[in-house]
Amino acid sequence: MEELLIFKDAAKKAIEQEIVPHHHHWEQSGVLPKEVWKTLGHAGLLCVDLPEEYGGSGVSFRYSQVVLQELCRQGFMGLSGSVAIQSDIVAQYILHMGNEEQKKTWLPKMASGEVVAAVAMTEPATGSDLQGMKTTAIKDGNHYIINGSKTFITNGGHADLVIVCAKTDPKEGGKGISLFLVDATLPGFSRGKQLEKIGQHAGDTTELFFDNMKVPASSLLGMENQGFLYLMQELPRERLAVAASAVSAARACLEWTIQYVKERQAFGRPIAKFQNTRFKLAEMKTQIEIHDAFVNQCVDKFEQRKMSLSDAAMVKLSATEMLCKVTDECLQLFGGYGYMSEYHIARAFVDARVLKIYAGTSEIMKEMISRELLGN
Ligand SMILES: Cc1cc2nc3c(=O)[nH]c(=O)nc-3n(C[C@H](O)[C@H](O)[C@H](O)COP(=O)(O)OP(=O)(O)OC[C@H]3O[C@@H](n4cnc5c(N)ncnc54)[C@H](O)[C@@H]3O)c2cc1C
Repeated sequence: MEELLIFKDAAKKAIEQEIVPHHHHWEQSGVLPKEVWKTLGHAGLLCVDLPEEYGGSGVSFRYSQVVLQELCRQGFMGLSGSVAIQSDIVAQYILHMGNEEQKKTWLPKMASGEVVAAVAMTEPATGSDLQGMKTTAIKDGNHYIINGSKTFITNGGHADLVIVCAKTDPKEGGKGISLFLVDATLPGFSRGKQLEKIGQHAGDTTELFFDNMKVPASSLLGMENQGFLYLMQELPRERLAVAASAVSAARACLEWTIQYVKERQAFGRPIAKFQNTRFKLAEMKTQIEIHDAFVNQCVDKFEQRKMSLSDAAMVKLSATEMLCKVTDECLQLFGGYGYMSEYHIARAFVDARVLKIYAGTSEIMKEMISRELLGN
């Protein structure tokens, strides 16, 4: 526990030093410089829970969450999402499903930030319904030929490596999906421009295109046609990471608001003196602590390999809905200043919104929970 606190402090200082001075500029220019990845890697903030032989520190899942949580605590939800894709999603797919050569080729470079990774599931015509994806990867001797397009891909602009989900058996639904470790330097791959979003302006989000892209058969991750199963296996960790980030982001919003309501005066007294303000703060603090406890319970279950799909769906659903409520109510307490982009709370309000959408929408989370409740 003491070591975790030391790591948390080191992460906090690294973020204060390397991210805080530049983030406003990145947000304004809408560009996250690629060098940030090496900076994060150098600071020891990427892929920390990978085994040491693959470039990690061999520590537990909690350490990886501390990085995401510290980024959110300092107001950088977009960057936290990008780091989660690298450390908590792509690295874990490779660690769990990759062969030794794939692990040795990619993981150490991902931990150092030399390689930026993305995962491409969503397509222009299908997101929630992954089984309906249209991108194909057809076997051709020692290669697969990939055709199709993906959209909303986090880290897509900088990615050197993309886990592409594609149909190896287009006649099938989920049973025809396979995953590929695609080297983004190969011919046939291209990226669209940065997508313009309502929040997370410095977040790297792009479309990706595959035009007769020929990838070696050795790019297949795990077994052919098992991709959907692998996605179901790894998505709970992603959802737990989103939930943990949401709680930290909500904590940050509450802290900024407490400071503001003590200073801002109305009717001759600080707005912190109004009962409405006090009750709102009390309600939000209570919600944050409840969700913190729920996240911790799920982290314990995850570490004991006991977290179910439904646990992950509940914690993701509930923590992200809570975050969006907190950002809205905090913004209200800032009055008009809350609507001004220069205030952290304004950015948090728009940055938080997507957490109810990516990694599975709130509605899909409810579907998963009810399916387990009803047995179908
Ligand atoms: C900033 C950002 C980053 C992202 N990063 C990535 C990434 O890195 N990789 C990646 O692959 N994807 C990424 N996504 C995509 C994201 O995961 C999808 O947007 C999400 O899964 C929803 O899919 P969709 O947009 O196609 O919405 P749709 O599936 O079209 O859903 C539209 C609405 O219908 C509802 N709906 C759909 N099906 C049901 C149902 N069965 N029951 C009830 N309601 C339903 C949804 O909940 C939603 O409200 C990102 C998205 C954004 C905005």
